[in-house]
Amino acid sequence: MKAWWQHRTLRFRLALWYSFGGTLLLAVFSATIYGFVAQRMAKPLNHALRQDLEKIQTKLLVLPDRRITWQGREVPAGTAWDAREPWFELWDEQGQLVRRCWPFNEDHLDRLPASPVRGSDTLSVFRIAPDIPLRVHSTPYRIPYPNGDWMIRVMRIHEPAADALSALLAIIVVSLPLTVALLVAGGYLITRHWLRPLELMVRQAEGITVDNLSQRLPVADEINELGRLATAFNSTLGRLEDSFQTLDRFVADASHELRTPLTTLRSVGEVGLRRSRTVEEYREIIGSMLEEAQRLHQLVERLLELASAEGGTRNVHSEPLRLDEFVTACVNEIGILAEYKNQHIEIVAKACTINTDPVLLRQVLQNLLDNAMKYSPIGATIRVQVESLAGECRVSVSDEGPGIPPDHLARLANRFYRVGDSRVRGPGGFGLGLAITKAYLRVLGGQLECVPSSPRGTCFSIILPELRDT
Ligand code: ADP
Repeated sequence: MKAWWQHRTLRFRLALWYSFGGTLLLAVFSATIYGFVAQRMAKPLNHALRQDLEKIQTKLLVLPDRRITWQGREVPAGTAWDAREPWFELWDEQGQLVRRCWPFNEDHLDRLPASPVRGSDTLSVFRIAPDIPLRVHSTPYRIPYPNGDWMIRVMRIHEPAADALSALLAIIVVSLPLTVALLVAGGYLITRHWLRPLELMVRQAEGITVDNLSQRLPVADEINELGRLATAFNSTLGRLEDSFQTLDRFVADASHELRTPLTTLRSVGEVGLRRSRTVEEYREIIGSMLEEAQRLHQLVERLLELASAEGGTRNVHSEPLRLDEFVTACVNEIGILAEYKNQHIEIVAKACTINTDPVLLRQVLQNLLDNAMKYSPIGATIRVQVESLAGECRVSVSDEGPGIPPDHLARLANRFYRVGDSRVRGPGGFGLGLAITKAYLRVLGGQLECVPSSPRGTCFSIILPELRDT
């Protein structure tokens, strides 16, 4: 079960613990100071009492018949304080006062000290009247006769030390509750002030829904914990917004792009059923419907691939990779397809190492090589080059295709963007390959460049940071 304070707000709990801790520390500190000062102030007095005791022991004699001979001066009542004449009391083994030597008229005193505890050596303060505090040192006094366990008590006025000490005590007693009150109020106000951004964040976060995911939490100070929390929350919101946008785009793209092939598919079927046909004709109709279905399948796969690349849902597993060897291996595998068009792929690869995800990088290379083969004529040569320059590794794929007019370059990696006639089916695909390539490269921390190739064709390059030995 939770304690009562655990049901309170964080602000209240912080203020409570802050005040409690502060009060405890203050109390311990005050007690230590008081004890220390009291002890330091009493030190000279205790020393003087010890000297008094020594003096008394040289001048005091108890005879076998218990008579007391005091060779010091008597201190008559009302005499002024004289440091040379010690005040003392002598108590016998029965706890009876046998001798008292001090300047006070006992009738005028409020109370007299009780008999000392036998055998104990103690130091204490005793008030015989409200304005007369005495510092008292009681100690055993052994007399050389049977049952000689007497007690002697020396005294001195405690006034100066007592005054300062009681002033100190008064200060502590008054200031402690005041300080505690200040601590409680200050703690509450400060935590309220500090936690105000949190309240704003909560209010703002409560208002964020799917419809206004672009809203962000206020970040008052990026350095403190609340600011960092808001920043982290904002970046989560950003990713969420991206995912929603990707989903929206996927739905919009899919419904836009799927409409035409689906209509074609349905029309071909409807036309085919309008009248009875020969087996050969049906075969042809079903063949073209299957072709369309296959195209639909490819389109959906490309769309899903793009959505996962853009949404960053694919896991990236980076590892150090010799780019020249990797590209050579990819070209050897993918290059088999070039043989269908009697094309030839030339590769010049200089040693270069990067840290990357080989699966994603292979996809990128495959897209560029596919395009180069797709848009280059039969018998063309495709040139692949791997080089390292100023901390970057560059893989360039140059083809001998029709080239891309400069005014198309900026939009080339847009989704469904197709240059000129490639919109019409033929070598061209869905216009998604470069969009996917760019999305993968963003995940890999690379860039895509496209420039005209000399004497004709296009040169696509991917640029990735080189991994240097440290
Ligand atoms: P697609 O699947 O249509 O090839 P891409 O995104 O890969 O889609 O390419 C977008 C468009 O850019 C293509 O439709 C084509 O017009 C043009 N394109 C891409 N690569 C080349 C190339 N190597 N040579 C000429 N045009 C290209």
